[in-house]
Amino acid sequence: MSSGKTARPVATPSVTRQLMQTHAVSAKKSLGQNFIIEPQVIADIVAAAGCDKQDLVLEIGPGLGSLTQSLSAAAGQVLALEIDQSLLAALAESLAACSNVRLLHADALEADLTGLLAEFAGREDLRPGFMAVANLPYYITTPLLMRFLEQPQLPWRRLVFMVQKELAERMQAGPGGKDYGALSLAVQYRAAARLAFTVPPTVFTPRPKVASAVIVLERLAQPPVQVEDEQLFFAVIRAGFGQRRKTLLNSLSSGLELDKQQISAALLAADIEPGRRAETLTLAEFARLAQNLSV
Ligand code: SAM
Repeated sequence: MSSGKTARPVATPSVTRQLMQTHAVSAKKSLGQNFIIEPQVIADIVAAAGCDKQDLVLEIGPGLGSLTQSLSAAAGQVLALEIDQSLLAALAESLAACSNVRLLHADALEADLTGLLAEFAGREDLRPGFMAVANLPYYITTPLLMRFLEQPQLPWRRLVFMVQKELAERMQAGPGGKDYGALSLAVQYRAAARLAFTVPPTVFTPRPKVASAVIVLERLAQPPVQVEDEQLFFAVIRAGFGQRRKTLLNSLSSGLELDKQQISAALLAADIEPGRRAETLTLAEFARLAQNLSV
């Protein structure tokens, strides 16, 4: 914050209300807008991120700017992507003092993240790569996470996301239960996941129906299993869980559009019984299966 103006912290019920009134905006359920109104929660998210002045931080969905203000104070540079045009005037006000924040009107699911972040790549005051920090809108959480996890060229080091508590638990689930799925496997392939803390619905306006949690995903230097063709690996996982009640033989042959003989041979070569379901397979078994499908 170098412009000399002081930022009025947004994360309180009264300042949030005032900003919304002044700029005639209301929270849109369709865009997952639940604004944080508790300053301690903002402080706890920034502490979980552990960013410093050498960090480039990508924020998805700055909303009214509550988290963005604190990220601006803690990080070297913030790139914030907000889809809702009607919030931009309020953001201009709340972030007026935050000269290290670049605010873009963009859809985080569609935006060329690599291209947008490349602009900061040559900055000597910033370490390579970036971290992403956000209070995520519920409806994009899974596709956005899959985008980060499936695309190895995106140089993120750490993801710190407020999500629904149930989703945070799914990320950490192991084989055998209903919580285990494509998201659990993608997370565990690419990252070490840690649930930092949980918060009740009362820290947001409007209040969501369920509890939320902040999850920290630390990128692994190397995936824990060997996979030669990551695209195929993720396609196998998606196909397996696309029809999770079916046997692997059936879900994979219809999901991957391959004949059953080929699937059966790959399953047997990977030492996996064709009658099993995707939810019983470990990460290592999925990796073995993908290896045998690709040869
Ligand atoms: N960061 C603010 C806070 O914590 O108070 C707002 C968080 S609110 C849960 C989610 C924000 O993401 C909203 O501002 C919403 O408009 C924005 N958003 C929703 N979908 C988006 C998308 N596809 N790309 C970028 N922003 C999006």
